[in-house]
Amino acid sequence: MLSRWMPDAIYASVHHLPWQTLKKTYDAIIFDADNTLGPWQLKQLDQAALMLLKHLSDQGFAIGVLSNSRMHGRKSVIEAQLNQVNIPLITNGKKPVKAGYLKMLALLQTTPDKTIMVGDQWITDIIGAKRMGMKTLMVKPFSLKSEAWWARWRRGIEWLIFKIFYRPSAEKK
Ligand SMILES: [Mg+2]
Repeated sequence: MLSRWMPDAIYASVHHLPWQTLKKTYDAIIFDADNTLGPWQLKQLDQAALMLLKHLSDQGFAIGVLSNSRMHGRKSVIEAQLNQVNIPLITNGKKPVKAGYLKMLALLQTTPDKTIMVGDQWITDIIGAKRMGMKTLMVKPFSLKSEAWWARWRRGIEWLIFKIFYRPSAEKK
């Protein structure tokens, strides 16, 4: 059944998550970048995203950014922004393969059961984190306009699968 691969919950954006409640159980958060912290192929993090990451870090969460993109021509800018708040960035993360998650967990010095994965894509972000045994929170894509045609096509399929298998009431608190 696909229901075991559904995210634990879906939120409108990274700014809508119940961080205070989550802090009681979890001590680390791994964010996807494109269409999660900003638009697809974001050139830099906007002020709202940076403030959120800093705020969560100040609350005691260990934070990391794990992207499947190689971030050609933009990695140094984003990495410098994250460095200022002591947040590691892994690019070419190959989600849903476990290696990138394991590397990030080592950097954050934590374990899957204490870690939340936040991302906009089911096949990569969510399924990969489910394989790891992490809490999985999905966010709606930051913007659909800038996405490649194949990503939009895939989202259509995902939407159909979610309509059948996703049950918000089944959310694990
Ligand atoms: Mg994404």
